[in-house]
Amino acid sequence: MELLKERIRQQGIVLTSDVLKLDAILNHQVDTELIMEMGKEFARRFKEEGVTKVVTVESSGITIAFATAYEMKVPLIFARRKKTLTTDNDCWLERVPSFTKGIVTDIMISKQFLTKDDRVLIIDDFIANGDAARGLIRIIGHSGAALVGVGIAVEKAFQLGAPSIRETGIRVDSLARILRMEPGFIELE
Ligand code: 5GP
Repeated sequence: MELLKERIRQQGIVLTSDVLKLDAILNHQVDTELIMEMGKEFARRFKEEGVTKVVTVESSGITIAFATAYEMKVPLIFARRKKTLTTDNDCWLERVPSFTKGIVTDIMISKQFLTKDDRVLIIDDFIANGDAARGLIRIIGHSGAALVGVGIAVEKAFQLGAPSIRETGIRVDSLARILRMEPGFIELE
């Protein structure tokens, strides 16, 4: 997606050779028009798949997943990371390492929102080692729903997440792929 690639070049800040800051468009301030375009693009790419639910994990994937679900006219479910007073006890739970927080967190989805009749598209902002996506894939597996694929806004192609998931036969589609980066330099495919 050229528009996203252009914005990454203009506004992406490479913190280290494996962490990209996109706070100006995605992870802090949100460029709503760009996000809606990303939703349209995912909806276009997966339109033949009969998707019934879009699934992401809080928090940064929510805006893109919302735009995608809105375009596809299906509900969005975001896996929660923290138990609150209102959290349903009857939920699927998986423990995943968080790439940016450097800790392990639980992610959960209430059993009432995912059933074996669902066809699920996972959406997230970045993929690095693939732990967040794999956690969601395991939850979808527990529910008996069918996974149609994973849509990622920014794939850091030099990390192992996306290829390792593709190796299992799951479709992983990215809107922008970063081949290499260093502070002050980003090589996009
Ligand atoms: P993974 O689980 O694939 O290792 O990491 C994916 C998650 O970590 C994404 O949901 C995203 O929020 C966060 N993440 C991974 N890499 C980056 C990065 O370079 N920049 C930002 N802002 N978030 C990242």
